[in-house]
Amino acid sequence: MDLHKPAHVVLLSSPGLGHLIPIIELGKRFLTHHNFKVTILAITSQTSHTESQILQSATNPSLYTLIQIPSPNISSLLPPSAAVCSRIFLTVRLSLPSIKSILTNLPVPPSALIVDIFGTEALALAQQLNISKFVYVASHAWFLSLLVYSPVLDKQIEGQYIDKKEPFEIPGCKPVRPEDLVDPMLDRNDLQYKEYIASVENLSKSDAVLVNTWDDLQPKELKALNDGDCELSGLLKVPVFSVGPLVRQTESETSQDTELMIQWLNKQPNESVIYVSFGSGGTVSYDQTREIAFGLELSKQRFVWVVRAPTGEAADAAFFTTGSNNGLDENKIGKHLPEGFLQRIKNVGLLVNEWAPQVTILKHPSIGGFVSHCGWGSVLESLTNGVPIIAWPLYAEQKMNATMLAEELGAAVKTTVMPTKNVVGREEIARLVTNLVGQNGESNHRMRDRVREIKVSAEKALCQGGSSYNALSKMAKVIERGESICASKNVE
Ligand code: UDP
Repeated sequence: MDLHKPAHVVLLSSPGLGHLIPIIELGKRFLTHHNFKVTILAITSQTSHTESQILQSATNPSLYTLIQIPSPNISSLLPPSAAVCSRIFLTVRLSLPSIKSILTNLPVPPSALIVDIFGTEALALAQQLNISKFVYVASHAWFLSLLVYSPVLDKQIEGQYIDKKEPFEIPGCKPVRPEDLVDPMLDRNDLQYKEYIASVENLSKSDAVLVNTWDDLQPKELKALNDGDCELSGLLKVPVFSVGPLVRQTESETSQDTELMIQWLNKQPNESVIYVSFGSGGTVSYDQTREIAFGLELSKQRFVWVVRAPTGEAADAAFFTTGSNNGLDENKIGKHLPEGFLQRIKNVGLLVNEWAPQVTILKHPSIGGFVSHCGWGSVLESLTNGVPIIAWPLYAEQKMNATMLAEELGAAVKTTVMPTKNVVGREEIARLVTNLVGQNGESNHRMRDRVREIKVSAEKALCQGGSSYNALSKMAKVIERGESICASKNVE
């Protein structure tokens, strides 16, 4: 490789804002810390206004080359009821010819390809081009451990995992309870389970796996994944680099509605507002929407609530469409809510339709807690802004995330019923919210102190000389020198 030319890293994002945002953040890190040339290939849904805004802001100022690959039409290939995971895997698979053509025709040949967890079939293209190849798991190391161990469980366990009573042992890691399993493991006969198991084999075809966590947060799992004596490391075969927490620091897209939100937040006392949002795809039922409304009202606390149209379908029903219809327009928002609600809460609550500027909100000093679906991106945004969480997991690996936050990290409280199975009642919602942001709330100080400690530990990991900083620098050197990871174990 010509050492005078910057290395060129290409990052592939599968469809969905929850996949695009972390890929952009990783790209930014290569650009700002390592002076790499960065190209982002984004498989886009092209239905979401927010997606276009995020893509636009990624190229403004034009630091990256951004290439959009329109999602192929898969409607005739999968039934409408197919799981989101199955749809994403198929979408990426059908996009492979476009990805190949782009990779081979880039004016500056790439030095490395980084794909997300749904893009592992594209690693074969990097192999053909003889460039470095990595998988970026934009989640945490306990999830990665379960993923890596799943083919073993597949052989060991008979019948459905969710029918089992005992937790599943993962070498070197905390066991996973059946009720906390990731969505693709809930039905072994579903296509998404087959896709999920097949993707694990592809992880080992990469040169290394990057994960959006840091050493101090998950020492045990990271050790199990990297320690040659642990079965997990033997199964994965390639090293794991913890490079996180990589999260957005700001949202460059501003609007009049964002200004109005900030003005409203500015008027509220510090740490007094609860923020309620279920991520890029989360939806709840009509009954649950009503209970949230009544629960917030009952709590008498201040709140910002991102309201999405209720659905009786899957909890991730909005994954491909969300963010098409944002803003503060009360006519759109009010139609899902109890009669008279808007009028009654007008002095304490702010309602946002579908999509809010989440980082801007979480950064605001008036925010004191987050009712969150516990998508890993939202979790990291909350922790790095010192905001404790009321965990309301809905889909993907969010039940694991909620358990880890509540039982291991002390950064969240969970609802007593599982939100995907039962409606969480208004009294419970009011109690959780009051305990967190109410003046004498019992979770208030304990959790807030713990989250502050995590925030400091995250900052240390990312700053010069920190574990995540060093891990990414090591990777960057490997890419620059065109070396293999194994030969570079001692790169300083
Ligand atoms: N997000 C946002 N506004 C919203 C909902 C979500 O900006 O109203 C962003 C959020 O900040 C995060 C991403 O969308 O960066 C969601 O990713 P996460 O991993 O939390 O969840 P998922 O993609 O699984 O929903």
